[in-house]
Amino acid sequence: MQPGDIRISAADLTTFCAAALAGAGAKDGDARAVAEHLVMANLCGHDSHGIGLLPAYVKHAVDGLVDVNATPEILHDKGAILKVAGHDAWGRMAGEFTMMAAFPKAEDLGVCAVTLSNAHHLGRIGAYGEMAANAGFTALFFVNVTDHDPMVAPYQGTDARFGTNPVCIALPPTGTRPAFLLDMATSRIAMGKARVAANKGLRVPFGAILDENGLPTDDPAGFKGFEQKGALAPIGDHKGYGLAFAAELLAGVYSGGGTIQPGHERRGGIRNQMMAVVMQPDAFGDISAMEREMEAMWDYALASPPADWDSPVVAPGDPERSLRKRRAAEGVPLDAETLKQLNAAAEAVGVTERLG
Ligand code: NAD
Repeated sequence: MQPGDIRISAADLTTFCAAALAGAGAKDGDARAVAEHLVMANLCGHDSHGIGLLPAYVKHAVDGLVDVNATPEILHDKGAILKVAGHDAWGRMAGEFTMMAAFPKAEDLGVCAVTLSNAHHLGRIGAYGEMAANAGFTALFFVNVTDHDPMVAPYQGTDARFGTNPVCIALPPTGTRPAFLLDMATSRIAMGKARVAANKGLRVPFGAILDENGLPTDDPAGFKGFEQKGALAPIGDHKGYGLAFAAELLAGVYSGGGTIQPGHERRGGIRNQMMAVVMQPDAFGDISAMEREMEAMWDYALASPPADWDSPVVAPGDPERSLRKRRAAEGVPLDAETLKQLNAAAEAVGVTERLG
């Protein structure tokens, strides 16, 4: 929470967001589901993938860069392999369709490798990880981003050649531990985090961004609104760059949706391709013994004496879980610039409600 931010309840944000999406042409059920998906990202603390994306989603719907009437389709179904075409449908709807298609196969065969091509923005990939974990599956996700200019520089490069290509690993809860949910961009900060920082006039960690000349900086000004001057840096130097590259190949190539290389059209929308490997944990052995071992490992990792006693060791997924509880009770903080952008987006599609 920064000075000047106001808090708005998740329920009010969802209603506003669904109205604006419906105003832009989304079917009622889709408008609600996409709105809930965005607001859940805010509740989890991922404001970069929350309601701040509404202006882009509205513009994409109005410009036909998301097809509000499209239905995802299974293109290939053989053995443990499934391929789904997103047909530019809302990412949230295409992502859920893909997971629901994969679960029965993983249940029958122990594993299902599924790809999704040409979906509109999938948003927070952890949402699909949670769908899998809550249904008792373990899942690995690799995602690439196309249809717009690249945002992330390769390690040792000076300009953008990749998307923020997220990677997610989800394991179901055990008797004593919640789901393990590692859900991360392969850029040091998500594009939306640079946008949110620029909107708030804040700095980002030095070196998380390269400026227009390819030099490391902490100034996100080049990322204000939806412009981009400069590039994001990958996480973990050559290792994060390697993961981003792998996501490009696994998601972009195996799905058939394509990579971000410039031979493909870039319409200024956001398309995601995804490769998910969904596994039935039972297929790997005695589930109670596996759970006991996972809990022992979890206890061991979290018992490390913290460097700062106010910030004890937590597991991937824990920060989102605790913030979700707090923001559900206190509301989601929004800055004045984001509010202005949201209200302008709603006004542009004839919605009379205003936030703030
Ligand atoms: P982040 O850096 O906030 O968190 C990354 C992971 O680290 C999470 O699993 C989190 O639980 C874990 N984590 C954070 N602090 C921790 C701590 N102290 N101890 C242990 N674990 C900790 O997330 P991000 O990289 O900024 O990504 C934000 C969101 O953006 C994700 O939901 C991602 O899926 C989404 N994303 C989507 C796209 C897309 O094209 N659809 C692209 C990029 C990112």
